[in-house]
Amino acid sequence: MDIFQAIILILVVLFGLSVGSFLNVVILRFDDIESVIKTRSHCPKCKKNLPWYDLVPFFSYIILAGRCRHCKKYISVQYPIVEALIALIFILIYGQYGITINSLFLAIISSLLIVVAVYDWLHSEIPDILIYSAAVFALGFITYSLWQTQTLLNIDAWLSYTYGLMIGFGFFGFLVIVSHQKWMGWGDVLLATLMGLILGYPNVIVALFLAFLLGSLFSLVLMATKKKTMKDAIPFGPFLVAATFIAFFWGTNLINIYFLRLGL
Ligand SMILES: [Zn+2]
Repeated sequence: MDIFQAIILILVVLFGLSVGSFLNVVILRFDDIESVIKTRSHCPKCKKNLPWYDLVPFFSYIILAGRCRHCKKYISVQYPIVEALIALIFILIYGQYGITINSLFLAIISSLLIVVAVYDWLHSEIPDILIYSAAVFALGFITYSLWQTQTLLNIDAWLSYTYGLMIGFGFFGFLVIVSHQKWMGWGDVLLATLMGLILGYPNVIVALFLAFLLGSLFSLVLMATKKKTMKDAIPFGPFLVAATFIAFFWGTNLINIYFLRLGL
C-alpha cells in the first residue's frame, strides 16, 4: 500500500466514525428529528456539549475509558460500537467499489440499516420510514449498477431482485401469520423484503439462513448465561441486518464454499 492509499483509507475510517457518531444522535432523538440538525453532540447523561476535540467520540471513548469528560458517568457502549461498525462497513464498501456513486448509495443504505438494527434492539420496533427510505436508495443502487454494466434492460437481472423480494416477504409474512405476530412483527416482514431487494436471489437465502443462525446462537448464549428465558422476545432486526451485510459482502463466497463441501 502506498502513502496515497493509506491516507484515503484513514480518511474513509474518520468519515465512517463521524457518520456513526451522527447516526447515534439520530437513534437517540429519532422521535424529534428536527433537534438532530439543530443541536450539537452532547453527553447523553449530563447534556454538556462535546468540545471540538471530542468530535470523533470513538477516540474520546477509548481515551476516557467509556466515561464522560465532565460528569464522569459511563456512556453506553452502543456509541463506540455504532461508530466502529460504520467505519468497518465503509472500509468494506470502499474496498469493493472505491469512491464511486455506487459507494455513496451503499453508504446511505448501510447507515439506514444500522439505525434500524440499533433502534429495533433498543425499542423492539422498526420504523417504516427507515425501510422505505432504504428501499428507494436500494432501487437507485440497482438501477445505477445495471446501467453501468449495460444490463438495465436485462429481464433476468431484474428477476433476481424480484425473486429476492418475494422470498423475503413471503417467508416472513408466512411466519408472522402462522405465529399471530408472536415470533416476528410486520416490521420484520418489511425489513426482510428490503433484504431481498438489496441482495437478490440466491443471496437472500444465504442471508435468511444466517439471520436465523445468528439469532439462535445469541438466544442460546443468553439462556446459558440466564440473562433471558425462552419467553423473552429478542428483537430480530439486528440479526437480519447483520446477515444482510455478511451476505452482501461474502454471500457468493459462502454459497461456493457450501457447494464445494457438498461436492456438487
Ligand atoms: Zn456527561
